[in-house]
Amino acid sequence: MELPGIRTFAGMKQIILKPGREKSLKRLHPWVFSGAIHKVNGTPSSGETIEVVSATGDFLGCGAWSPQSQMSARMWSFSDILIDRDFFRRKIENALALREPPVIDKDTTGVRLVHSESDGLPGLTVDRYGDYLVCQISSTGAEYWKDTLVEVLHELIPCKGIFERSDLSVRKKEGLRESFGLLWGEEPPEVIEINECGRKYGVDIRSGHKTGFYLDQRDSRSMVGDCSQDRDVLDCFSYTGGFAVAALAGGARHVTLLDSSGPALERAQSNILLNGIATEKYSLMEADVFQAIRKFRAENRQFDLIILDPPKFVESRNQIDKGARAYKDINMIAMQLLKPGGLLFTFSCSGHMEDALFQKIVADAAIDAHREVKILRWLSQAPDHPVIASFPEGKYLKGLMCYAL
Ligand code: SAH
Repeated sequence: MELPGIRTFAGMKQIILKPGREKSLKRLHPWVFSGAIHKVNGTPSSGETIEVVSATGDFLGCGAWSPQSQMSARMWSFSDILIDRDFFRRKIENALALREPPVIDKDTTGVRLVHSESDGLPGLTVDRYGDYLVCQISSTGAEYWKDTLVEVLHELIPCKGIFERSDLSVRKKEGLRESFGLLWGEEPPEVIEINECGRKYGVDIRSGHKTGFYLDQRDSRSMVGDCSQDRDVLDCFSYTGGFAVAALAGGARHVTLLDSSGPALERAQSNILLNGIATEKYSLMEADVFQAIRKFRAENRQFDLIILDPPKFVESRNQIDKGARAYKDINMIAMQLLKPGGLLFTFSCSGHMEDALFQKIVADAAIDAHREVKILRWLSQAPDHPVIASFPEGKYLKGLMCYAL
């Protein structure tokens, strides 16, 4: 049944919201939770485009239906625009336009081209690594339009191949199986070399974290590079050497890379060599950061600059306290390892951890470390990971550049 007096598309199925549950959509927030739904008109298939209508019959926009998820719909639009190939083409064109120089340096070839909700395409991530694109699809809507999206991508972006890295456990919540492999064009090489603000990195898009590399830390890596001249640097959770390469290219006296993953450190070493840096400039340490930094403290090892870029310690709201303790622990010890006048670059990529709480954790760590710590800069994800104003969840990465007396 269609309600009278609303804008509808012929044959399109509808979800009708409960009274008052249209508020977040009117504020352009793109998620509709199952608890907000009064009824579904018709039986939309997974990912099919549906109209969303308020309890009073107002047309709110179109979204993608996700029957198995708690998040029943993700909005494509908040107007009566048609959701078709042209719609996706325009969205991707807009996403590309936003990343033109000077936002992203023209020689940088590792770039996030589409950042899901923040580019109006919930569930679609597209990263460029040199001549190849890597897609991650995490919603039923993006899955439904996958073939169209792939076509539009290679139409708009000159590339040799498009590879899918939808080996994501979150797809289960959407009733989707993991998916991995070539979507279009040529098989990418095992390692793709990218340029990031003059630094070179080899990226393994098949087995690397995320789509292969932490593109979101680009600007903070440049900042570390700018601060590294003649400094003795400790890069904790170094992964494939993102920060370490920046520090070495920036003239660090020595960098210690610390990570629990042997393969990540091997790749880090290749990345350092790729940048023509002498072997005596760095050392690799395969160890648990929590233990290794305690050992450094016991040995009175000191550094001029420390990077703490851990994995997500808070995966869900109920892990906030436990995560906060872990962040405080590593920050306190890192501060104790800093020489007077040393710099700490400390990060949290946990979206559930609010900026203010992270700053409080760092403040508490400083008190326990008996160090006077000043925040010199607030850091965040690079601008190819934008945050749409009405979707604050898009901001997940936070960091502080601290000076310790
Ligand atoms: N700074 C990196 C990204 C870090 S990703 C960059 O800019 O590219 C997080 C890293 O932490 C991973 O490489 C993982 O192997 C490592 N890791 C996770 N837990 C760890 C622990 N307890 N001790 C040491 N390394 C750990």
